[in-house]
Amino acid sequence: MALYPAQFIEDLKQHADIVVVIQDYVSLKKSGASYKGLCPFHAEKTPSFNVNRDKGFFHCYGCNAGGDVIKFLELHEKIGFQDAVKQLAQRFGIALPELEASDEQRASSTERETLLKVHEAAAKWFREQLLSAAGARIRRYITDRGINDETSDAQGLGFAPPGREGLKQTLLKQGFSEASLLKAGLLVQREDGQAIDRFRNRLMIPIGRDTGSIIAFGGRALEKDQQPKYLNSPETPIYSKSRTLYGLHLSKAAIRQRGFVVLVEGYFDFGQVYQAGFPVVASCGTALTPQQAQQVRRFVGKVVLSFDPDAAGQGAAARSSELLVAEGFDVNVATLPAGEDPDTFVRRNGAAAYGERLKQSRPYLEYLLDRVAAGHNLNSDEGRVKFLAEMLPIAARIPDAAMRDRFGDRLAFKARVTDEVVRAQIRKAAVHRQTAVQASPHPGFGNVTKAEKGLIWWLIHEPGPALEALETLEPGDFESLASRSVLDLARQLNENRGFSPSVLLERLSMVEAQLVTGIASEPEPPALSLTSCVREFRRGRYERERAAVQREIEQLQTRGADNGGEINALLARNGDLGRLIQALVIAEE
Ligand SMILES: [Zn+2]
Repeated sequence: MALYPAQFIEDLKQHADIVVVIQDYVSLKKSGASYKGLCPFHAEKTPSFNVNRDKGFFHCYGCNAGGDVIKFLELHEKIGFQDAVKQLAQRFGIALPELEASDEQRASSTERETLLKVHEAAAKWFREQLLSAAGARIRRYITDRGINDETSDAQGLGFAPPGREGLKQTLLKQGFSEASLLKAGLLVQREDGQAIDRFRNRLMIPIGRDTGSIIAFGGRALEKDQQPKYLNSPETPIYSKSRTLYGLHLSKAAIRQRGFVVLVEGYFDFGQVYQAGFPVVASCGTALTPQQAQQVRRFVGKVVLSFDPDAAGQGAAARSSELLVAEGFDVNVATLPAGEDPDTFVRRNGAAAYGERLKQSRPYLEYLLDRVAAGHNLNSDEGRVKFLAEMLPIAARIPDAAMRDRFGDRLAFKARVTDEVVRAQIRKAAVHRQTAVQASPHPGFGNVTKAEKGLIWWLIHEPGPALEALETLEPGDFESLASRSVLDLARQLNENRGFSPSVLLERLSMVEAQLVTGIASEPEPPALSLTSCVREFRRGRYERERAAVQREIEQLQTRGADNGGEINALLARNGDLGRLIQALVIAEE
């Protein structure tokens, strides 16, 4: 898709006063540093809709709608980004520039063509190696994992032999330059300057665009102690991980035809489900991004998640589910017996049994309802309050009002709240985040810590120092945090020198924008200084690690066998972590 130049969008947003634009639709009154009015996105009698003119965003405390001036028009006029930009430019008399090529188009078209050709040639060579005598062991491995020749062929599976220069020499001979191979991520540069094959002794899985062109590879380790288990191509001018879903090119026709898509985690889950004849794509272990959701939406609006039952309610799977619900998808969960994933289940029980599981799949929200209910004692008032506190934020993220209402009723029923008044309150609570029970202040994001709130607030209001603080943090510091996707995006933009509060707002998904504008609407800076925020992130990470270490120690101790050495090492780490945490606490005092 062609794009407007980033600088133009930035200028447009400078000119298009968000207060002036919104005042076309909503009567706003100045209140302190911001403007207030009745929200145009939900029915209300007291104003909870805020506009921040200086920072150029709006946020509603009632329904959590939020974003920049372009997002406002998109939501209010129900138009796309490009049309919203056009409308704004017209309104403020700014000439529209020629559409410019996207990143991908900008990389000169010859370079892109070369990179595509490199990938095609590499895939062909990997495939030949698999079919050669040297690949017999790997073919057996594939067969043992229940993948037949036809599927292996469709997936284009291949084999990267253990040598350092097999692929390199072949492709150089075919006339590709070393520079192109490096750019394609197929070679890595060693410290001594020599470039060698990135993928060695691995089962190769080509990753395609939905048109079928190969743009990257996944490489699975073939030896037990080979690390990492999966090695993927790096981001390149033709490959962006967050925009690619594995298997879309193989399944897209079936997806359209069947009207749904099964979402699985791994390449082998994909292989089995595909072979069993179902429309399927794989997320490859990470939570879905809004861009990936968009890819799916081009083909279908219904997704059936098929993860192993322990994983379905948590981590990446839960984040994917919540994203899909919030983006308006019809999301079902197909549960499998404990310990099974789609790969093992289909191999053991066959396609028909798996199809039955898909048929019996339940709406994600109902599935979640039961799962959360099972974790609380609904016979006690305390249990009921906790149950509601956990579910209401999720309810509030359902974009469709009627659906949200129905879900409110289901919640009331489950919590055995029969009183009509309380029922109404639940329904209201699903819309308004101020609730009688203590709901999380940021629907769907679970508990956002003070440090996250602080850092996000500073990123919008004082980006300079906030970015410096962000740079001192490591990815591990965000791990498992509710706002991780937002902080990752901010870091990415910063690394590409493209961070500004306005660009951040523009790139957020609908739900992420709700979170960020909610935090940024607070008129006062947060209680934590940036330095304290950084310490808190660190401390959180150490504490997560310490909890994991302690769990491991307990497990080893209950097993009782001869593992004193291992326990001692863990105890030492536990002590170190305790001291690190203590030091951070002291620094804070
Ligand atoms: Zn609202």
